[in-house]
Amino acid sequence: MDPFYFTAAELTFLKHHGLAAKDVYNGGSLQARDYVPKAEAAGKFLVYVKDKCPRKHNIKTTSGHCPQCSPSVLAFGRRQHTEGFIFVAHSKSAGATRVSVTENMEIRAKTINVNDPGKRTDWVILFSANCDEMGLMEKAVHRDLAQYSLKGNYLDDSDPANNDLFKCEPDEAITIVKNLLEKMA
Ligand SMILES: [Zn+2]
Repeated sequence: MDPFYFTAAELTFLKHHGLAAKDVYNGGSLQARDYVPKAEAAGKFLVYVKDKCPRKHNIKTTSGHCPQCSPSVLAFGRRQHTEGFIFVAHSKSAGATRVSVTENMEIRAKTINVNDPGKRTDWVILFSANCDEMGLMEKAVHRDLAQYSLKGNYLDDSDPANNDLFKCEPDEAITIVKNLLEKMA
């Protein structure tokens, strides 16, 4: 988007968060239901909108929040578009396959049997691949694996937010991930 649109305060705000004018989709006079899919298709999570927030800010996230009033909303949006790795791991004792993303595969591989909420120590990483937009990738793969989701069913799981475990053969998860990587490339 043309930097001309932005006030000095907006440009300073963007720069402070490692963003630039080009990272903002121009929503023009569109309503949210119209600009959200367009911005997402353009790979952007910030939109310049005509409806200002109560404090008169013009930039909104695609989730409808004002990043200038609540900068913490930027972390989630950025994660959607961060480069990282998707991996598939299997635990025989859990009888489960884990499909998740990480920014640092090396560290994740070292800690996968240390930080497991179910206290499993037999996770084996069977597949990993680089992906450009790891958050979007994670969303897509979890959607394709939804029928196998173990969300809320994990044995002695102390982490209710855990949503990356699936009751399926690792080979099937790997095939799904490979297909999505091809589609999203
Ligand atoms: Zn605001």
